[in-house]
Amino acid sequence: MNIILLGPPGAGKGTQASHLVETRDMIQLSTGDMLREAKSSGTEMGLKVAAIMDAGELVTDEIVIGLIREKLEGDKKGGFIFDGFPRTLTQADALADLLAEVGEKLDAVVALAVNDDVLVDRIVGRAAEAVAAGGTARADDNEESLKIRLMEYYKKTNALIGYYHAKGNLVWVDGLAEIDAVKAEIAEALG
Ligand code: AMP
Repeated sequence: MNIILLGPPGAGKGTQASHLVETRDMIQLSTGDMLREAKSSGTEMGLKVAAIMDAGELVTDEIVIGLIREKLEGDKKGGFIFDGFPRTLTQADALADLLAEVGEKLDAVVALAVNDDVLVDRIVGRAAEAVAAGGTARADDNEESLKIRLMEYYKKTNALIGYYHAKGNLVWVDGLAEIDAVKAEIAEALG
């Protein structure tokens, strides 16, 4: 089973993806994680995207589609969880093509319904927790970048809700519920 977790930054996509990896042996494909990895290891691509990511803007479709293409060729285990990808209609079309090329298809798109006030609190909380644990907060987990990330989401990514609704594989889950309740709702939706 291959699914997309769709929702704005702070909606809980990463948390829910980790749970699905543990319980269903699925593979989490987070383009954000892949890009942060490229950035911290200082690859040419990583250096190119660093400033864009820190500002909260989207990197090019070409880069993220390339990252996903590489991963789909590997082991499929219990299926793929796309986390933070696709974020544009171009990426959504590319994903359908890439899955078809490896003989797979998209089974469900789980949209996490949240509101912006909660997102700001969660992101600011996530940054504070990272610092309290002796680490550093994500460079884009600050109010200024968050505003841009939210704007990018509503301008470019929110259109995917209509796109997947039309394709017939969209399911809504209450992302404001407790983490365990969200896990249960997703499990029910996936069957
Ligand atoms: P995330 O961890 O999903 O919040 O992503 C962090 C940042 O990485 C985003 O703000 C973008 O700059 C970049 N990014 C991640 N995934 C994508 C994507 N699918 N398309 C474009 N940019 C992305």
